[in-house]
Parts: sequence; C-alpha cells; structure tokens
Amino acid sequence: MASPCVELSNKMKMPTLGLGTWQAPPGKVEEVVKFAIDAGYRLFDCAYFYRNEKEIGNAIQQKIKEGAVKREDLFIVTKLWNTFHERSLVKVACKKSLAALQLDYLDLYLIHFPMGFKAGEELHPVDDKGMSVPSDTDFLDTWEAMEELVDAGLVKAIGISNFNHEQIERILNKPGLKYKPVNNQIECHPYLTQEKLIEYCKSKGIAVTAYSPLGSPNRPWATPGEPVLLDDPRIKEIAVRHDKTPAQILIRFLIQRDVIVIPKSEKPQRVEENIKVFDFELSKKEMDVILSFNRNWRAVPVLKYVLYYPLGLSLSVFFIPHILKTHMTKTRESLYLKPWILGNEMCPGTDSRRETHSGHSLQHLGAACAFSQASVQINDSSKS
Ligand code: NDP
Repeated sequence: MASPCVELSNKMKMPTLGLGTWQAPPGKVEEVVKFAIDAGYRLFDCAYFYRNEKEIGNAIQQKIKEGAVKREDLFIVTKLWNTFHERSLVKVACKKSLAALQLDYLDLYLIHFPMGFKAGEELHPVDDKGMSVPSDTDFLDTWEAMEELVDAGLVKAIGISNFNHEQIERILNKPGLKYKPVNNQIECHPYLTQEKLIEYCKSKGIAVTAYSPLGSPNRPWATPGEPVLLDDPRIKEIAVRHDKTPAQILIRFLIQRDVIVIPKSEKPQRVEENIKVFDFELSKKEMDVILSFNRNWRAVPVLKYVLYYPLGLSLSVFFIPHILKTHMTKTRESLYLKPWILGNEMCPGTDSRRETHSGHSLQHLGAACAFSQASVQINDSSKS
C-alpha cells in the first residue's frame, strides 16, 4: 500500500504519510526503514539530532541497490540542528546530514527549532545554571543560508519546524525573501489540534506535517497520570466502529485534515499497521468529535521565550521551568520577554490554556533528549 501525496507550493509532491525516526535506535532503524520501504513508505522524517542518519542512509542505499525503490521515488526530510544556526554553519550541517544519509540531495530540509544554541560539539550546550546557551543568530539569517542550499542544489525544498504564527510571519515578511517555507512541522493530534495555526499555514501555502501524531507514548519525560492518547476510550470506540486500531484512527484523523503525518515505530508489524489508513474514512461527525478532544496538551511541551531586540535582531532561548522560575528577572521580563508555546496556536500566551501535566508540565526538548530521564530535573512550575 503506497501513500498518496500532497502538492507543495513549489509543486513538489510530498507523501501524506511517512515514518518518524526520533528515538529509533541506530541498531534497529536500518531494518525498520528497509521494512517500511517494502511496505510502501516513501517519506522518511530524519534529523541530525536523532543521531541515526547513517543507519537510515544504509537502509536507503541498500533498497536502491536492490532495485526496490528509486531515489527519486523517496522523499527524505531532515533538520538543521540548533547548534548550526549561524550562517556559515548551515551548509556544513546540511553536508553532514547528506553524508550520513549517503545522499546527494535532500527533498526537504527544515530548521528544527526557531532558536539556535551556541555553536560547537555539544548538541545541547548549557551553562553552569543548566540554562541553554543560545546563539545570537537571527533565524532570518539562518533562512537566507537555507535558501542558498536550494540554489546550490543540495536540497529541493526548505521549511521550518516548531515555528509559530509570528515567527512564520517574520520569514514571509523578510525583505528579499527568495523562497517561502513549503512546510511547517509541528506537534498535532487530537489533544493538540492546532486549528488556528494549521489554518494560518494553509492560507500562506505552507503544508503542515504533524509530529507525535500518536501522542508520543515513549517520550522520555512521560509520567504516570498523563493522558495516553492511544488508550482514550473515545478513540477506541471509533476504532471498533471502523474495525481499525486506535493508531489508525489517529493517523487517519490527520490525513483527512490534509496534514502530513509521520508516526514513528521500530516494530515492523506497527509500521505496516500505520500505513493501512487509506481504505476507510472518518465521517464529518467523527472528525468533529475528535477535534473536540483538544485540550492544548503537549507530548513535547517546549516553552519558548523570544527576545526581540531593537534593530530586528531576535534571540530565542529555551528555559527549563524550574530554572525559569528561579532565574527569570523582572527586568528581562518587562523589557523583552514574551511567552510563547512553540508551534502552538497563533496567539501569544496560549500557554495559560495548557492543561497541567501531573508530575511536570514543561520540559526542554533538548534537555530531555540529550540527558537521561533520571538526570532531568522535573518540576511543575505551572502548579505554583
Ligand atoms: P508518535 O506519536 O509517532 O509515537 C511513537 C510511539 O508510538 C512509539 O513509542 C511507538 O512504539 C508507538 N507506536 C507506533 N505505532 C503504534 C501502533 N500502531 N500502536 C501502538 N503504538 C504505536 O511519536 P514521536 O514523538 O516519535 O513522533 C513521530 C515523529 O515525529 C518522530 O519520530 C520524529 O520523526 C518527528 N518529531 C519531530 C519533532 C520536531 O521537533 N520536529 C519532535 C518530535 C517528533 P514502537 O516504536 O515501539 O512501535
């Protein structure tokens, strides 16, 4: 079973369903990608940060050599990590990913996050207080370097990830903009339906990809008591009605919203299950019911603070909540700090509508991924 495609604003065709690869261990991902290609997957969502591009590249090369698939039939996405936001590093990062993936071009290259970190070997540089060390590169400069990758033939298309409405506007309004982002990859599922942001992206011709479509049950920072999307009895009920699994309902829900979806699995049986979503349809009523499950809950709850300096320079910083509580000074707050939830609805301050997580609420994605679960301090700043 193959996945249909959506047409991007640059006329490229992007499959509506692909395989996510975050937390797919290097030892397993090669076999899974090969299996997925045989099962009909053509879109693979990768990232420098996931540290498994080499194994994904091995799988792709093997399948091409076998004649199972041609390069031009695949749609390979990977992402510029935060430590490469400086103009001079964007091509370096892209070439690293290309080398690991063993490709001479990418179909789509995304800026993984709007904020950069200090350049260097550390994927997530932190200072002695545990705060992320930001880069002072404006993402508009990063975007210009991304545009150069298109002209150099290294990537066919460029896009963004975890950008909210205002950040997208900044790119679209950039004087001399050469290429618009074709895609914004954001968290989206029935507990975070992102209606406004999706509508906005569509109005600007930007396709949306939904990450964590199943609620990311294996996220390293999950705690007991948090909602489990795959176990939601209302989703289960709809699944029974269609003789499908809850995962298939969650995936279908996004496809019917014209959103590209990239569920991750390292289990062949689930990889196969997740692509069997093109032989049934949810009714309008079922779609509306599922949309009503929205609770602005994030599986990947990343809080972002954007500092807008005069002269248009934008510096963006991540904060871990307990650090934020302790170290954010009134002066900084009143001068420049604007609260945003990454990639959330269009308006600032939507974090107030976020549901409180039991055990913790906000977590730094980089920290959570870069450190073991045990070493990450988890506090619920939203409760205090
Ligand atoms: P998903 O919502 O895709 O959930 C993945 C989890 O669900 C895994 O634990 C998997 O287990 C399990 N699973 C998969 N299929 C089924 C099934 N049919 N039934 C039951 N369980 C299932 O989470 P992710 O957070 O991984 O998101 C998907 C992808 O999105 C990522 O892999 C990554 O590519 C991308 N992403 C991008 C981000 C960004 O900042 N741009 C952030 C987060 C994700 P198992 O593997 O054991 O089958």
